[in-house]
Amino acid sequence: MSPKRYAMAVDMKKCVGCNACVIACKNENKVPLNHFRDWVEQELNGEYPHLSMEIRSQRCNHCSEPPCVDVCPTGASWITKDGIVLVDNKKCIGCKACIAACPYDARYVHPKGYVDKCTFCAHRVKASLKPACVEICPTSSLIFGDINDPDSEISKVLGSRKYKVNHVETGCKPNLYFLE
Ligand code: SF4
Ligand code: SF4
Ligand code: SF4
Repeated sequence: MSPKRYAMAVDMKKCVGCNACVIACKNENKVPLNHFRDWVEQELNGEYPHLSMEIRSQRCNHCSEPPCVDVCPTGASWITKDGIVLVDNKKCIGCKACIAACPYDARYVHPKGYVDKCTFCAHRVKASLKPACVEICPTSSLIFGDINDPDSEISKVLGSRKYKVNHVETGCKPNLYFLE
């Protein structure tokens, strides 16, 4: 059996930009004031009157080739065997090399001095719960699971829908998929 590879899909056809995912993450992970582990982007495309709006709930892409891990001088940034990219705040010296290396602006410096970001709610996943943002989403726009399991909801949706990823040209192999 191949190891798990956790990933998230964001259904841009369902997301209404309500920011419930942002609030849920803040509550669940005690994200400090003025900092965020996830955020919602809106982009207007086309020309009047043929306009369309893309709404994207963004967070760390839990890249398969994460440059943040490569540049970390202390091993604080690391990737689990299930593909979740984490920061060990006891090992982090706050040098910000990972922040400079991340093409997605997914990390911030916590007021306590270490770098923080989305963990895919690894503590909840370990307890067989969905990530807080996925759980709260009122339109079920967020789908989380193992893309190495062909029977998972995320594998099925990625197999049947068109999708794109953030800046494929970075070569980081991001695991946040945007369903079109
Ligand atoms: Fe979109 Fe769901 Fe986040 Fe609301 S909670 S902004 S619908 S992803
Ligand atoms: Fe690292 Fe940034 Fe990729 Fe997240 S999005 S794994 S912080 S390079
Ligand atoms: Fe926040 Fe967890 Fe969602 Fe990541 S998976 S954005 S840590 S609620």
